[in-house]
Amino acid sequence: MRTRPTLTWTPTGAPAPRTTSLDEVVDVVAAGRVVALSGAGLSTESGIPDYRGAAGRLRNHTPMTYQEFTESPTGRRRYWARSHLGWRTIVGAAPNSGHRAVTELSTRGFVSAVITQNVDGLHQAAGTPAVVDLHGTLDRVICLACRQISDRAELDRRLRAANPSFDGSAGRLNPDGDVELDEESVRAFRLVNCTNCGSRMLKPDVVFFGENVPRPKVEQCYRLVEESAALLVLGSSLTVMSGLRFVRRAAEAGKPVLIINHGPTRGDDHASVRVDLPLGAALTDLAARLPRSPATPSRPAVVTPLFNAG
Ligand SMILES: [Zn+2]
Repeated sequence: MRTRPTLTWTPTGAPAPRTTSLDEVVDVVAAGRVVALSGAGLSTESGIPDYRGAAGRLRNHTPMTYQEFTESPTGRRRYWARSHLGWRTIVGAAPNSGHRAVTELSTRGFVSAVITQNVDGLHQAAGTPAVVDLHGTLDRVICLACRQISDRAELDRRLRAANPSFDGSAGRLNPDGDVELDEESVRAFRLVNCTNCGSRMLKPDVVFFGENVPRPKVEQCYRLVEESAALLVLGSSLTVMSGLRFVRRAAEAGKPVLIINHGPTRGDDHASVRVDLPLGAALTDLAARLPRSPATPSRPAVVTPLFNAG
């Protein structure tokens, strides 16, 4: 039988009730060796909306699939035209109080590593020491023909130069850096070639829908979870398996799974506590209520940078 080592959890078979109290989270995190798993909900306070919006409704946004991107020149043009506009918001976004609190929990020795499903780079911008970008990051670009990795800022300069009068009126931004854009603007957008091999197959180093997280990266995350004492889920509805599997692994090992998220999650059955609070305020409060450091502080885990499409 699976056991969950928290003081208040009783094995009823039902999901832990949702609460607005951080008491149980404070108790577990105070012992240290916590791995955090973050999702889009952590970045909404930085102005990057999540897929579900405040009401929890799935927005009418179909993310680019790997198949469409690689097989359709029109699909690639549409992606880059829209992403070219969305990128301005992503680079302009700043970490919020939630990201800063995660950095503080890491440097004070409570959180050993952060696995993030976000591709916005805001954990790194906030100075968090050990971050695994589960789905890659938008600030790197890979050429699918020659595998050269390059900087998104450099591509951005070249796309601006190739499209000097491009001023498509962008609609809503999506968390993958995509925006709504009219078809006329898409058709007028000019792509640029790889600087190494001349191919047009440039792709952001992020995992598209229909693509798998590379195995070495998954194994690295499993190791982090195995070495941890608890898993803290921050702002993710856990709808995709790429994140949910770590929740399952932690629960199977009898480790407490603490979820702070606005709305229900697919991991609720595995949770020892589910807290429904805004992330920025909740994490700031959590950091304030913890002792200076855990009895045995953990050093930031060693995280090997791994490219997603590389
Ligand atoms: Zn190339």
